[in-house]
Amino acid sequence: MIIVMRHDASAKQIAEVVARVESHGLRVNISRGEERTIIGVIGDDRPIDRTQFELLDGVEKTVPILKPFKLASRDMHPPDSLVPLDGMKVGGPQIALIAGPCSVESREQILESAFAVKAAGAVALRGGAFKPRTSPYSFQGLGEKGLELLAEAREATGLPIVTEAMSPEQVPLVARYADVIQIGARNMQNYALLNSVGEAGRTVLLKRGMMSTIEELLMSAEYIMAQGNSRVILCERGIRTFERYTRNTTDINAVPVLKQMTHLPVILDPSHGTGKWEYVTAVARAGIAAGADGLIIEVHPRPEEALSDGAQSLRPDKFAQLVTEVRRIAEAVGRG
Ligand code: PEP
Ligand code: MN
Repeated sequence: MIIVMRHDASAKQIAEVVARVESHGLRVNISRGEERTIIGVIGDDRPIDRTQFELLDGVEKTVPILKPFKLASRDMHPPDSLVPLDGMKVGGPQIALIAGPCSVESREQILESAFAVKAAGAVALRGGAFKPRTSPYSFQGLGEKGLELLAEAREATGLPIVTEAMSPEQVPLVARYADVIQIGARNMQNYALLNSVGEAGRTVLLKRGMMSTIEELLMSAEYIMAQGNSRVILCERGIRTFERYTRNTTDINAVPVLKQMTHLPVILDPSHGTGKWEYVTAVARAGIAAGADGLIIEVHPRPEEALSDGAQSLRPDKFAQLVTEVRRIAEAVGRG
């Protein structure tokens, strides 16, 4: 950080600030200007609360220099991280397509979905067994039965499984079935859950909270990585704005911003981002054009019968069309 002293700060006040910095085992670089003195702190000062310094006499303000996240930062790891997903590497030249229903509803529904998304080109099957629903009266998912059905669909199609865990207690169970554990938007800042998936030894798909900043998303990734798990895929899934015509507002900006700030792969969820199936393909194309490493798309064989998120789910033929269109965009931006 940089500590900017007030223009009338005394030599004694400056000396006290310097002594305080040095008491943390850090060094200073003092620049005495005509107007005021600026103290540059040398060393990693992230563990220190900057307000400690702002409350000292003679200090005008402090300015952070280091990003508050390290492991997720590109500064620490300049090349793109590649996260293995079955045969492919998410974050590499190939676009990863993850698709399937919002929720696992029945054996027939998940198997039909799995075969359909595989035929269209998906590399992984999504489907929630534990569902974070706004209302406690809405369908909450099939629980472990849903996980068993996902495992059966993996067996039948070879597609790896992406499914959500909602609490630390669920993580060991979900990890037994899932190839990728999803952390939903509502749980992005559930730090006990982040620590627990950090320890679970599975790839994590971390969705951005609907009211979270990009930096907060990266801080959440940092929690998982700090437990020794660097297999984290970030997902922009739309944020809440004043616009009510669509369910959320897909923050396309987040894609290039994240690609610049972090080495982790970034995928887009245009299904939750828009909430209406009619717009999913257009926003999917935009995401790939903006540099996303993949897409997660809700697909249901009969959206009108879906127990959750039918309005934003594509029928298999529409999903196949999306794949064709996205492939053309991918090729135009030098990817496959
Ligand atoms: C989902 O993927 O079905 C889901 C609940 O997503 P989100 O957490 O982004 O709302
Ligand atoms: Mn959903």
